Amino acid sequence: MSIARIVSEVVVFTFFEFLEIVAFFGLFESLPTSAPAGLLGHRGSEGMLTRIIHGHPVFSSGRRAREETVSEVSAANPRATPMLRQYFEMKSRAPDAILFYRMGDFYEMFFEDAKEAAPILGIALTARNKSSDIEAPMCGVPYHSVEHHVAKLVASGRKVAICDQMEDARASKGLVRRDITRIVTPGTVLDAESLVPGSASFLATLVPSSSGNGPGSNPGEGGSEWEASFLDLSTGRFYAGILPASRIGDALALFRPREILIPEGVSLPIPRGIAESRRPAAWFEASWSEVPADASAGPEHPAEAASGGRAAAAARAYAHELRPGRARHLSTPEPLRFGERMGLDASAIATLELFESSDGSAERSLCSLLDRTRSPLGARALRDALARPSTDPVELESRWDAVEELVQRPSERDAVQSALDGVGDLERRFARIAAGTAGPREVASWAAGLDAVGTVRRAGAPLTAPRLRSLLDGMPDVTDLVRRVADTVAADPPILASAAGSIRDGANPELDALRGLRRDAQTALLAVESEERKRSGISNLRVRYNRVFGYSLEVGSAHRDRVPADWIRRQSLANAERFVTPALKDLEERILGAEERIGEIEDRLYSELLRDLSAGGPRVAAASAALAAVDVAASFAQTAESGRWCRPRISTRPRLCLVDARHPIVEAVRREEPFIPNDCDLSPEKRILLVTGPNMGGKSTYLRQVATAVLLAQAGAFVPAARAELSIFDRIFTRVGAADHLSRGESTFMVEMLESAAILRGATARSLIILDEVGRGTSTFDGLSIAWALVEHLHDAPERGAFVLFATHYHELTEIALVRTAIANATMAVREIDGKVVFLRKVVPGTADRSYGIQVAELAGLPRDVIVRAREVLSNLEKQELDVQGAPVLARHGGESAGNGQILLFSSDESLVLEKLREVDVNRLTPIAALSLLASLQERVKAPSS
Ligand code: ATP
Repeated sequence: MSIARIVSEVVVFTFFEFLEIVAFFGLFESLPTSAPAGLLGHRGSEGMLTRIIHGHPVFSSGRRAREETVSEVSAANPRATPMLRQYFEMKSRAPDAILFYRMGDFYEMFFEDAKEAAPILGIALTARNKSSDIEAPMCGVPYHSVEHHVAKLVASGRKVAICDQMEDARASKGLVRRDITRIVTPGTVLDAESLVPGSASFLATLVPSSSGNGPGSNPGEGGSEWEASFLDLSTGRFYAGILPASRIGDALALFRPREILIPEGVSLPIPRGIAESRRPAAWFEASWSEVPADASAGPEHPAEAASGGRAAAAARAYAHELRPGRARHLSTPEPLRFGERMGLDASAIATLELFESSDGSAERSLCSLLDRTRSPLGARALRDALARPSTDPVELESRWDAVEELVQRPSERDAVQSALDGVGDLERRFARIAAGTAGPREVASWAAGLDAVGTVRRAGAPLTAPRLRSLLDGMPDVTDLVRRVADTVAADPPILASAAGSIRDGANPELDALRGLRRDAQTALLAVESEERKRSGISNLRVRYNRVFGYSLEVGSAHRDRVPADWIRRQSLANAERFVTPALKDLEERILGAEERIGEIEDRLYSELLRDLSAGGPRVAAASAALAAVDVAASFAQTAESGRWCRPRISTRPRLCLVDARHPIVEAVRREEPFIPNDCDLSPEKRILLVTGPNMGGKSTYLRQVATAVLLAQAGAFVPAARAELSIFDRIFTRVGAADHLSRGESTFMVEMLESAAILRGATARSLIILDEVGRGTSTFDGLSIAWALVEHLHDAPERGAFVLFATHYHELTEIALVRTAIANATMAVREIDGKVVFLRKVVPGTADRSYGIQVAELAGLPRDVIVRAREVLSNLEKQELDVQGAPVLARHGGESAGNGQILLFSSDESLVLEKLREVDVNRLTPIAALSLLASLQERVKAPSS
């Protein structure tokens, strides 16, 4: 029987099944607003069972551990109905997933699952026993819209287990057999509706390395190593390697996995919005080589599989477990090489608004601003280029060459981009083909996309940049796959493989013959109709088809008397009667027989097609990667041309020189004000720039635009500047603004210090460090002291040579440039007109003498009396900024008293004590007076605790 027929029968019979369930379990009177009476058993036992269910760990997630088994609960409660036991059994197989339990035409969710899902799905939560103190919540969705609802839950980071009826409810005696047919998780989902076209969909697998601290080691503690793999089942992209614990947060920020798989018992803070899945520790013991390889797998990287192999093996096993036999297209993972690309810490990814702007929108991110790609493949590759910039000068020069040629040859670029329009999502469609879930229409679209490979190659024929040539010339020949689809799939194919008509005429002689037979029989049917109409004289006679009774001759009740004697009555309707004749029966058998056979052949041919196409995996992957790379280069070129961006030059000595650089996002978003470009010039001689200036002056923007230019250059793009010359940076670190991690129990200041500590630990002579307002989260003196010491350390530590941009409102900090040679001061120019501050947005050498905070507060509309009082307080404070000799307190060098290069910071009490000591004439003091003076001075400077 064809799949089409099975499906349509299921559709017809679900109503019968439903009625049967209702009758069997007494559901009827409680529907539609009530919970599963069938699950709860006889009325007398409902309350008790509901209590059992609510108390059971499966339904009270988080309140108790899941140590009891479902069978214990069922056994302990003999009054549980068989259906309840079955429900428990299914739930126990996927305890952390929301269970969609099929009942007739609906998938029902119960208890905690229902409470969790209803608000996400926007459906009504109903309850059994509403009036009593204990409720049994439930909600449900119609079976035909299940994919849409599953997609919604998965998009919200939930896992869903689909429990289907495995037999015809009419045929079964008693309880319908059910089984979990599918578990959909955010990291393994393949359906188009659950995936964002331009974003990867990674499953991260993390296992404490056997040489590390073992399960239980906390990545925050540093020191240990983890095996890690990142698998995007929807595209086949797969990376594995070893990660130091300290880089896990950065790796998660970069790959942005939708799900993390870790061994039970391992503690790992899972960022919000990412689903967590656990398996017993023993499950992660197999190495990659122990997991059987698949014939249709993509390119192999056997040498690298050893590194991170257990994480990769676990990821593959998990994918196989959730989609049995369907993770066929997985290749051996590529090495993660986390340290070989430019490193971006989680803070840099957020600060530079790589994937999300500061207000959380993806549209105003750097990535979407740059994205002029024409295919989802290109969009994902662009994200990848930004997330993992290169540190290889040869690779960068070749990428820039490609972009340059595409900038200079706009008509060839247009032609290539138009050809790329036809590509579509080759990778994800292929993933569904390999998984056996792609429908015929999708296969046809995929083949049309694959055909665009040739068009892109032709459009790119005149281009000469070596990278473009090797990408275009290296695209594998895939015409055989395109032809295979064209030879098999019908011209206007159905969406679902289960529908009839997927296979084209001419694909298979037997199919053609059967279709001919069916056509003939249908013609014969029409002949029977007109012949019988003539014989009986009944003009409105019609041949009808009904799934239960088959073909029949239908006549209106008014003509009942004229029915010939040899017709056999089949069915009486309200206004009509249906009959059969032996000739009609014979035709019916021929038609239905042919149809069944046609269905079988179509199914077979279609599965063979998917299998054959799957074998093309490595070629499809190579073609997709090349198309994506061309798409990214063309996109970079388009942005560069329209924004007048420049090609960067590589400096062999450490250098970061930008002329007229702009911040691409601020420039694009704030169009009401022209963006004022600025320069930057750092070299080993002046490698730390302290930027002071008024609030709202543009300090942060300046810092970010410099870092963004470096990132863009190393991503292979041009940069928004008139000229750019830079050496290769190994990492960009940022520490910007206030960020609480309250959920992790870390205050703003703690986060600030943790991030600063990580920077000092991780920065090398080739790093770029952006520090914005470090030290602001604590008292002024503490903060200034930390900032001062930090800058000194970045300058002095012999192994350091990192370039640093430090924006600060501690104007005292600029004095450090007096005593450290590689530090320069810059300030944001302002003009004060009639007491009002005008921002010029120009970075100029020098220091700011004030922050104009009060002027900015006034601009912001703080009440007049508050502003006036603030000015008074400020003037009081400013009087104390100088030491007793009128010199800036902070500029005084510790060497003056101790000779150790320390700068001393004195409180006013300490200054007074010093003043007193200077004044006193020791020769004229009596011993008693000296002692009393000593006591009084000590009293002034005594620490509160002493
Ligand atoms: P604060 O010290 O208060 O944090 P800031 O000095 O860091 O302020 P920014 O946040 O960088 O100032 O800039 C304030 C605003 O000024 C930005 O939102 C931006 O719109 C605008 N701006 C900054 N730089 C420029 C520029 N070069 N050209 C035009 N507008 C700019």
